[in-house]
Amino acid sequence: MKEIKDEIINAAKNHGLYKNVLKTNGNIVINRGSENPEFLFIGEAPGFTENKEGIPFIGRSGKILDMWIETTKKSYGIINTVPIIPLSEEGRIRPPTKEEIDYFRPLINKLIKKMNPKYIIGVGKSASKFLNKDFKLCEWEGNIGFIYHPAYYLRNGRKGMNDFKKLIEKIKN
Ligand code: URA
Repeated sequence: MKEIKDEIINAAKNHGLYKNVLKTNGNIVINRGSENPEFLFIGEAPGFTENKEGIPFIGRSGKILDMWIETTKKSYGIINTVPIIPLSEEGRIRPPTKEEIDYFRPLINKLIKKMNPKYIIGVGKSASKFLNKDFKLCEWEGNIGFIYHPAYYLRNGRKGMNDFKKLIEKIKN
């Protein structure tokens, strides 16, 4: 595990996004939770809180994701499509570009293979791009499922719990 994480860190330091880490005195963010989980969640990219602490999904979206995860009573791991906070010229957070997702994809795939999860859950549009499929809400393909990003539910004043339960229910059928 350390080996692949070091590879990601090296690749990150060689990408233009790394200037965001330097500018903000932030961190490269890779994973949290189990390194051999039953459920592996793939988010988008670190936000400001994650960049500061070096841990994925620990801000407002993370609180929602944690609520979802708790209902599974299973082991979990969390990663992102890219390990660095994407920022606009003005310093605002933005989604990762296709180029950025493509750059990290081989190493993130290697990380996923190493973690060997039973189920993978893509969380939000960037994860859908990473997975190379235009997933619909609560759709499964093989062992890969999809749900909207917690930020989507936050924007709409909802918690997404019903959608998450629906997604997990589908495994049992
Ligand atoms: N949103 C994400 O997609 N990932 C994080 O780590 C934090 C917020």
